[in-house]
Amino acid sequence: MAVHLPLNRFEGTLEVGLHQDGRRLTPQRRIVLDLFQRIGTGTHLSAEDVHHQLLDAGTRVSLATIYRTLRLLVEMGFLHELELSEGGHRFELASHDHPDHHHLVCVRCGRTEEFESEEVLKAGLNAAECIGFKLIESTLNVRALCPSCQAN
Ligand SMILES: [Zn+2]
Ligand SMILES: [Zn+2]
Repeated sequence: MAVHLPLNRFEGTLEVGLHQDGRRLTPQRRIVLDLFQRIGTGTHLSAEDVHHQLLDAGTRVSLATIYRTLRLLVEMGFLHELELSEGGHRFELASHDHPDHHHLVCVRCGRTEEFESEEVLKAGLNAAECIGFKLIESTLNVRALCPSCQAN
């Protein structure tokens, strides 16, 4: 049975956002968003990853500009930001097809795997309702060591 969350943070963001905010996308912002749309959902890139990929594709944009662009795309609802415990930030495409999910993050190499858990969603919803908070999202980031880092 699906958990019905009171507020779907993806509702109206991607499609409506593209329609309404698309005009506000400068060519540079469009290039960054295009990169995420090309690689699809489920890929988590750091600002440095985006920088390297754009350089490889022949687009010269400063890392500072990429940071600003990523923040803006998060505010506009195109991207979802993941705050990792080591202070690193990753970004992924926000999508209706790819709703609330959780992350297992290797603290050594940064490998990030996704998983789904209705229990986590329910726990977040219950906790919020108990104290009168309105839920926006429940996501869990699990810090771990991946198999290859365990072997080293
Ligand atoms: Zn993810
Ligand atoms: Zn690892």
